[in-house]
Amino acid sequence: MELNRREFLKASGAGVGGVFLLGTLNPDVAFAKTPKTLPLKKHFGEGYTICPYDGSGCGFLVASQNGKVVNVEGDPDHPVNRGGNCSKGATMRQLSADNPWRLSKVLYRKPGGTDWEEKEWDWAIDRIARNIKDTRDKNFTATDSNGNLVNRTDAIGNFGGSALDNEECYLLSKLTRALGVVYLEHHARI
Ligand code: SF4
Repeated sequence: MELNRREFLKASGAGVGGVFLLGTLNPDVAFAKTPKTLPLKKHFGEGYTICPYDGSGCGFLVASQNGKVVNVEGDPDHPVNRGGNCSKGATMRQLSADNPWRLSKVLYRKPGGTDWEEKEWDWAIDRIARNIKDTRDKNFTATDSNGNLVNRTDAIGNFGGSALDNEECYLLSKLTRALGVVYLEHHARI
C-alpha cells in the first residue's frame, strides 16, 4: 500500500508527536485526558486554511478543541510550503477570534491626545464616514487642466493588508474607486 507523507504521518509515530505538540502549546490539553482508545479527531477538530499574510499562499492545518484554536502548523502536504512557515505565518494564531489579546472595542486617541478612549462602533463608523466625505468634497477634481473629465481626489489613499480576503479587497476597491481615490495599494505588492 502506498502512503503519501500526510497519511504516513497520521498512521505513524509522527501522529504521537502531534499530540505532544498540542499538549505543549496548551497545558489544558493533557495526554492523560485523552483515552487511548479514541481517535484524535474526537478531541481535536482539524481544519485547513491558507495563510492570509502574503501572496505565497502557504497552507496551514488548524486544530481546535471545544471551539477554541489550540494549534496552527504548516500543512506537510501543501505544495508551496510543505509543512514549513515563515515567522509571519507562525504568528497566524494571533488572528483567531478567541485570542484574548485581540482588540474587540474601538479605541480612539484624539488629535494631540495621549490617552486612548473606548468608543462605540457606530460612533467610529460615523466619524470615519464624515471625515472621508469632508476630505473628498474639499479636494475633488472633476476635470484636469486640459479639460478632461477625471473625477478624482488626491487627498485620500487606501492601504490594504494581507489579512483582507478577496471579497474584502473587491469591496474596498469598488468603494474607493467610486469615491475617486487613485492611491489604492496593498502591502503584499510593495
Ligand atoms: S507563511 Fe510566510 S511566506 Fe507563507 S504565505 Fe504566510 S507570510 Fe507568506
